[in-house]
Amino acid sequence: MKSLTRELNFQHTILFVIAASILFYFTYRSFYDYVRDNESKAVAQHLVDYKDWYEGGSTLRLNQRFTATPGMEQKSYLIVTRDRDGKMTFHSREDVKLDGKGRLLPPEEGKWIWQEVPLEDGNAMIVAKDISEALKLLIQLRNTFVIIMLISAALLFGGGAYITHSALAPIRHMTQTAKRIIKTGDLKTRVPLRNKKKEDDATPTDMPPEIASKDEIDNLAVLFNVMLERNSRLISSMRETLDNVAHDLRTPITRLRGALETGLSHDQDPVVMSNSLGEGMEETDHILKILNMFMDVSSAETGAMKFKKETFKANLIAERVLDLYQYVAEESEIALEVTQIDSFNIFADQTRLEQVVANLVDNAIKYTQKGGRVTLSLIKSAGEMVISVSDTGIGIAPKDYNEIWKRLYRCDASRSKRGLGLGLCMVKAVVDAHGGKVELESELGQGSTFRIRIPLQAE
Ligand code: ADP
Repeated sequence: MKSLTRELNFQHTILFVIAASILFYFTYRSFYDYVRDNESKAVAQHLVDYKDWYEGGSTLRLNQRFTATPGMEQKSYLIVTRDRDGKMTFHSREDVKLDGKGRLLPPEEGKWIWQEVPLEDGNAMIVAKDISEALKLLIQLRNTFVIIMLISAALLFGGGAYITHSALAPIRHMTQTAKRIIKTGDLKTRVPLRNKKKEDDATPTDMPPEIASKDEIDNLAVLFNVMLERNSRLISSMRETLDNVAHDLRTPITRLRGALETGLSHDQDPVVMSNSLGEGMEETDHILKILNMFMDVSSAETGAMKFKKETFKANLIAERVLDLYQYVAEESEIALEVTQIDSFNIFADQTRLEQVVANLVDNAIKYTQKGGRVTLSLIKSAGEMVISVSDTGIGIAPKDYNEIWKRLYRCDASRSKRGLGLGLCMVKAVVDAHGGKVELESELGQGSTFRIRIPLQAE
């Protein structure tokens, strides 16, 4: 596998070397030009002197005067004169030559610059200077630069490797976590986070993930964990739902089978036969109800749920639900009471609203202990229909207030009760579709009040 750390580092180091070399090249060039300029000026100066010496008395005098100059000057300067044909007439050093066109071929050793002037007698004089001494500083500068650059590049590579390696640690952890999940299927695996304190903060329910950590990569790891947490919750609630659906369907299907069996074994007795068919019908209705709930939630979530709105008496909603649940409440030893039911007309989907209230009352009874109380009210207030269902049941923790409306969500406290986690999702979808609002007030262990507000629309 390619290592991003190595690749990033390599690229940074190469960039550094290129940038440093460009910088050095221009610095070196301007130093070099400065040295050359100075040396050219010196050559021009000497050229004037040597020309005077020559024109004041020929090559002999030039030779005498030059030989009398200090050793340093003799070593670093050389003088050549040549005639019109390009033939050398004087040279202050042996190892100097002219090419076929009379151009100077300086000695091999040293680095030379030279200038040429015509002389009065028609010949020409070339004065050259060895500038290797002056260039020594530049060469030393260049060597020092190369050494410093090599050390810096090594430090940059090593230090960069360390920094990138630790900066990318969360990404490596994420890869390892993903691999482990793929390999073992263990959805409980999480990415270890660097900052312990932040890790504690990073639970999916109580954190705004954007501020849960200090940098982008850490944030990514936190979000990765949040995603894993949500997925694992979703998967376990799906498993639980599937179990519950299987369980909920098994009972009516077993009963249906029993009814059919009874009918078949009494095929001569029309009374038993019709009772069995009636029982069978009831059970199929129950099965259909469960399946419809699934379909409803799906269509509500995709916005494909159909509504049949009409004008009807709003009090019918409460009355029908009361009829339906009076018996269930009695069986559960819970008092189902009405505080107020107003009588007014509403334009809405009656069946869906009945389903909504039935769901709320069903939950209220289901999540309330024996001896508890469930109260229902339906009132008209400020252009709205307000339906409240209160109970003295187990209550809902504040952290779940927003979650319970989501598909398949079930609070921890209610795990012991059977349920699909679909009812409230459907409630919200229907209320939303009527332009209404859902509200919840609850205290853990004390009870809950679910309130829905639906604006009274004109037909
Ligand atoms: P379920 O089939 O589990 O009842 P719902 O969507 O109707 O699904 O409700 C979602 C969750 O909200 C329930 O699992 C339960 O934890 C919580 N809940 C709903 N109504 C009540 C209530 N009246 N009292 C306490 N908890 C409730």
